[in-house]
Amino acid sequence: MRAVPTQNRTPVPNRTHTAPRAPFASSNVPAGGEATFASLGVDADLVADLDSRGFTRPFPIQTATLPDTLSGRDVLGRGRTGSGKTLAFALPLVQRLAAEDMADPGRPIGLVLAPTRELAIQIADTIKPLADAAELTVTTIFGGVSQKPQEKAMAKGVDIVVACPGRLLDLMGQGIVHLDDVSITVLDEADHMADLGFLPNVRRIMRATPAKGQRMLFSATLDNGVDKIVDEFLRDPLHHSVDPASSPVRDMDHRVWLLADKTAKDGVVLRLASGTGQRILFTRTKHLARRLARKLVQHGIPAVELQGNMSQNARERAMHAFSSGEAHVMVATDIAARGIDVSGVELVVHVDPPAEHKAYLHRSGRTARAGAAGTVVTLVLPEQKHDVQVLLKKARIKADIERIRPDDAAVAELVGEIAPVVAAEDMPEGVAVKGGTAATRGGSGSGSKGGSGRSGRGRSGRSGRGRSGGGGRGGHGGRDGRSGSGRSGAAR
Ligand code: ADP
Ligand code: MG
Repeated sequence: MRAVPTQNRTPVPNRTHTAPRAPFASSNVPAGGEATFASLGVDADLVADLDSRGFTRPFPIQTATLPDTLSGRDVLGRGRTGSGKTLAFALPLVQRLAAEDMADPGRPIGLVLAPTRELAIQIADTIKPLADAAELTVTTIFGGVSQKPQEKAMAKGVDIVVACPGRLLDLMGQGIVHLDDVSITVLDEADHMADLGFLPNVRRIMRATPAKGQRMLFSATLDNGVDKIVDEFLRDPLHHSVDPASSPVRDMDHRVWLLADKTAKDGVVLRLASGTGQRILFTRTKHLARRLARKLVQHGIPAVELQGNMSQNARERAMHAFSSGEAHVMVATDIAARGIDVSGVELVVHVDPPAEHKAYLHRSGRTARAGAAGTVVTLVLPEQKHDVQVLLKKARIKADIERIRPDDAAVAELVGEIAPVVAAEDMPEGVAVKGGTAATRGGSGSGSKGGSGRSGRGRSGRSGRGRSGGGGRGGHGGRDGRSGSGRSGAAR
């Protein structure tokens, strides 16, 4: 039951990334009044659900894309990090699928592909309440966990699958999932999914979906890389770019700090980790992420690691500890660079400069989300200076390189209030410790933790926007059996 595309917007040929943005570029608010979800075509049931959770006004990427996506058009949507792209594709996905027959066992009717498990979980979390309102079901499929619960869910029939490519292909190969009933496919972080590492698998998956289906591609950076997917899989796609590619996120403050040597850098890192607000520290390798997180824990700073060598359980414990605010430091590789939405992250530190400018934008985009403010610090050793300058230029970031020492006032200013040191036995579940991540904590659990003076830790920076009413966002889309890490705390 697809709507015939009747939009009279100019279909953009395949070179969509070079498309003129003029007609949609800046004005997403129609003259004569602000758009509402209802005026953009969102069904009353879904509007009511959005309202109840505090999503009262559409963000620009939503205003720009919803009329087209809701009418069934193929769309490429580019909006800055933290600009609300998930909801932009979740709404048409749910609303249009609600008009179709429910899924047969093993045959989802909607598919979202994402590069990491954390992001898949998060996307499912965003879709879930909308799907509930429309009486659709959603589940996640990704590796690193038993396939049994995924198998079971599929056997019952699931309407929307949010998946990472590897496990999905695996289940397809086993005949557990068939994609021939999929009528809507979304690629989140589309340019990343078009990278060499993902492209072959993404192609195989897309080819298994019916050619007449609707396809949506979203990312903060849509570059030439997506051409291959656009050429093969999209029909007359419309390109919506709600801001010039060159414009950095508003309220994101960029600092570049040149340190004399590694000792000075270690000193600055330790200080930057010691504040009370939520912060993410990015390292170049998994090994470095682990080492730094453990070092911080030894210094009494509750820090989690997030990197690809961890078990899925450990990853989820880490995510939970961080997004609930129990741990205020996450040390991560680029696995956390894409898509992860933890509100209230006020500082991103590039402990090691990113490999390229896109990684800079995505890593940095973990702060200053949804209109909140945030600071990004890149730490540079003398021998890295040139490369970093080139990278920042490509990312179109204008920031002077400052010479910094650990005891400088500039550092103190970013650290803000210093968090009390936490004793080893009081560390929250999920922090980085030797032999893995702490799975259990001694003593009586969170009750005793409340007494450690951390409860008032300056969480005021967390924007209440769209989150305050978000208690209902817990649960992972239900059927994949990854219980035990409910994210109810994230809505605090
Ligand atoms: P992106 O994918 O563009 O990086 P997300 O989809 O993760 O951004 O959204 C960033 C944050 O903005 C999320 O916490 C989300 O709940 C919030 N958000 C999205 N749309 C709205 C809206 N219309 N009103 C308020 N908050 C919103
Ligand atoms: Mg996103």
